[in-house]
Amino acid sequence: MKKWMMAGACAALVLLACFKIGLFEQTTTAEQTADHAKVTSESTNDTATSTPETETFIKVGKGDRTLYTDASFTTPLATVNGGELTEYLSKTAEAYQVRTNDGYTGYLSTDDGTEVTKTIQEAPSDLSDAVIVLDPGHGGSDTGALSNDEQTEEKTITLSTAKKVKAELEKAGATVYLTHTADELVPLADICTYSEKKQADVFISLHADSTEYANEATGITTYYYYGEEKSLAQSIANSFSDLPLESRGVETGNYQVLRENLQPSVLVEMGYMNNDEDLSELTSDTYQQQIADSLTRALTDYFK
Ligand SMILES: [Zn+2]
Repeated sequence: MKKWMMAGACAALVLLACFKIGLFEQTTTAEQTADHAKVTSESTNDTATSTPETETFIKVGKGDRTLYTDASFTTPLATVNGGELTEYLSKTAEAYQVRTNDGYTGYLSTDDGTEVTKTIQEAPSDLSDAVIVLDPGHGGSDTGALSNDEQTEEKTITLSTAKKVKAELEKAGATVYLTHTADELVPLADICTYSEKKQADVFISLHADSTEYANEATGITTYYYYGEEKSLAQSIANSFSDLPLESRGVETGNYQVLRENLQPSVLVEMGYMNNDEDLSELTSDTYQQQIADSLTRALTDYFK
């Protein structure tokens, strides 16, 4: 099992204003008590020099779908988030038996999911051997959250910061890709596909938060979706401890770029756009560089 596998914890979320304009999909997660494993590496061939092990998931169709206690779908068991990569256990003619991220084992109609197979990656033992995909949140017509005076857009901050993070990670020898380098909108599904195509050892989406009322919240929050990503998220949250803005720790977040991402992934809200003090940090080169230094330090430790 990969080092990033770990049992999940739980948290209900306050919705964020990243999706003020509705492009950034988020739904509140209920308690997540999952012991979900993203990996189902039950290869039948354990001999040396065998073909690469693969892991199979059942990707739930768009929108919420129903999980049943039985393969004839008589008794509903739970609702599963659309796009979730559930653990594949077995298959009948009309049903997949799966384990969800919430820890439910049940049956999903084959019409409600598709099989996704991925080759298991060996986790690198050093950041210099790692591939990191950075996703500057929002872009183009999707501005993200706005400052209180509506003069500063989240997308500008995320792109500027991501470029600094890339430069710092590259100094440490990592191979780094940005989902976009110019001010353009990349569809969320394409972001997940890109992360997979690049075989990211870690995927990080960068954002800045907002709340309903001005100046009511402050600080940095690190989100993950699958339980095994909690340790990565925790390492990253810990690395923000000496920044000018408080690290609010880790939370589960039902974001599409995490939920539909086959690679180990986290999303960082680097501060609040509608908090004037947070904004003065978010827009400063010094703070953005501190984020870059912190993430580089966290990933250096993570891969050791
Ligand atoms: Zn955002």
